[in-house]
Amino acid sequence: MTDMVGWGLGTIAGFGVALAVIFVVLRDITQKQHTILRNYPGIGHLRYFFERLGEYFRQYLFAGDRDEMPFNRATRGWVYRLAKNEGGVIGFGSTCDLRQPGSILFVNAPFPVLEEDRLPTPALAIGEGFCRYPLLGRSVVNVSGMSFGAISAPAVRALSRGAKEAGCWMDTGEGGLSPYHLEGGCDVIMQIGTAKYGVRTLDGSFDRERVRELGHQVGAFEIKLSQGAKPGKGGVLPAAKVTEEIARIRGIPVHQDSISPNRHPDIPDMDALLDQVMLIRDMTGRPCGIKTAIGGWAFINDLCSAVLRRGADSAPDFLVIDGAEGGSGAAPQVLADHMALPIAEALPRVVDALLEAGLKDRIRVVASGKLVTSAKAAWALCVGADFVNTARGFMFALGCIQAMRCHTNTCPTGVATHNARLQRGLVVEEKYLRVAHYAQNMAKEIDMIAHSCGVRHARELHREHVRIVQDANRSLALSTLYPYPDRTRRAGGVTGDS
Ligand code: SF4
Repeated sequence: MTDMVGWGLGTIAGFGVALAVIFVVLRDITQKQHTILRNYPGIGHLRYFFERLGEYFRQYLFAGDRDEMPFNRATRGWVYRLAKNEGGVIGFGSTCDLRQPGSILFVNAPFPVLEEDRLPTPALAIGEGFCRYPLLGRSVVNVSGMSFGAISAPAVRALSRGAKEAGCWMDTGEGGLSPYHLEGGCDVIMQIGTAKYGVRTLDGSFDRERVRELGHQVGAFEIKLSQGAKPGKGGVLPAAKVTEEIARIRGIPVHQDSISPNRHPDIPDMDALLDQVMLIRDMTGRPCGIKTAIGGWAFINDLCSAVLRRGADSAPDFLVIDGAEGGSGAAPQVLADHMALPIAEALPRVVDALLEAGLKDRIRVVASGKLVTSAKAAWALCVGADFVNTARGFMFALGCIQAMRCHTNTCPTGVATHNARLQRGLVVEEKYLRVAHYAQNMAKEIDMIAHSCGVRHARELHREHVRIVQDANRSLALSTLYPYPDRTRRAGGVTGDS
C-alpha cells in the first residue's frame, strides 16, 4: 500500500516536472528578446545562472591572487590581516610582479634608521591661524566619506568607535550627520554635498542656522564638488535605502529615490566656492576644505590664482583629491571607467601647483583613491600628501567581501544594507577593533617603510624615496618623473596642459 502511494506521488511529481520543462521550452522558443534562449531553450538559462553566480565564485575558485578588480585577493588579504592584527608577514616570496608599469618600489637606504633614532610621526594642524578651532590631524590614515544611508548604522557605529580608538578622523560623506557618527567620539568631518543633505532647508537651499549648530558637533567641514567615481554626477540613494531615519537626517522625503544635483546650484565659479568656504569657517570657527576629482590643471591653477589674489584667509584649509579609481556605492559605469585622472597623475600636479603658489603649508592635502595599503599611502606621502583617506580599506576592515551589491540593499556582510537580518552579522563590539587595528597597523607599516628609506618618520618621506616602474627593465625616481617645482615661482606663472 505504502509502495503504491509512493509510486503515485513520484509519478505526479515527474509529470509536474515534465510539464514545467515543456512550458519553459515552449516559452523560450517563442519569446523574441533573448537569442540564446530561442536557440537553446531550457538549457540556455544556465548561462544566466552562471553569469550571475560567476561574480561571486570567481574570486574563490578561479581568479589568481593578483587578478581581480577593483581589489585583488592579495590586496584584500593584506587589509584583512592588518584589521585582524595578524601582522603583514608572508612566506616564500612576493606574488607581486615588480616589472609591471606603475609598480611602486621604495628606495631602501644602505643604513636604515635604528630604533633609538626613530621619531613618532607628528600630528599636523589643519586651519591653524585661520579659524578659531583648528583640527589636529593625528593619524596619517583616516576614514573617507561614506554616507549613513549608503552604509548601515552598525557600520557607521563601528567606524566611529574604531576611528576614536586609532585617533583618526571620520568623514560623514554627503548623507548628513547621524547620531552614529558621534557615538564613538572621534573627530568628524561633515561633508556637504550638492544636495546639502543635513544642512538643507525644506526647499533644498543652504541652511545657515543648521551649519552653525553643527559647528558645535563636528571638527571640520568639507564642500564636496565631485568624487572620483562619478565626477559631474550627483549621488543616488535608491528608495529601498531611504528609511524614515535616513530621510529625517538628510531632510528628504521617505521611501523615494534620493538624487543629488550634479553641481552645487549656488556655487557656479571659483569665487563663489571660496566665498562659501569663508562663510562656513566664519559661522562655525571650524576649518573648511574642498573635495574634488581632478580632470585637468585648470581647477588647481584657478584655485591658487584666486587665493593669491584674495588672500590666504580665503583659501580652503584642506583639499581632498580623489582619484578616478575612487569607489562609490552606485556610479554610472561610463563615469567610473572614463572620467577624471587617477590619483597617480592628479596628486603630484596638485601638490606642485600649491608649492609653486607658496600655498602648500596653508592648504593641507588629503589623497584618496584606492589607497588601501601602506605602500600606496606611503607613496602618497612621498608625493606630498599630508594625509590619506580610504573608504574601502575600512570597509574591508568591517568585513566587506567585495560582493559589489552595495546599491541593492542586499549586502551580505551588513556593511551596505538596511536589512536588519543582514546587519545582524556585523557585530559592532568586534568590528570596531578591526577598524582601529587596520588604521594603527597601516601607520606602523608606513613608518616601517620610512625607516627602511632612511628617514625618522613618515612625514620625512619625499619623492626621492620612491621609484615607479616604467617597463620590465627600468624604473624612475618619482623626483625625476615629477621634479619638485621652483618654489619661487608664483601661481600666475603656473603652466601645463589643461
Ligand atoms: S560586501 Fe559587497 S555589497 Fe557589501 S559593502 Fe562590500 S562590496 Fe558592497
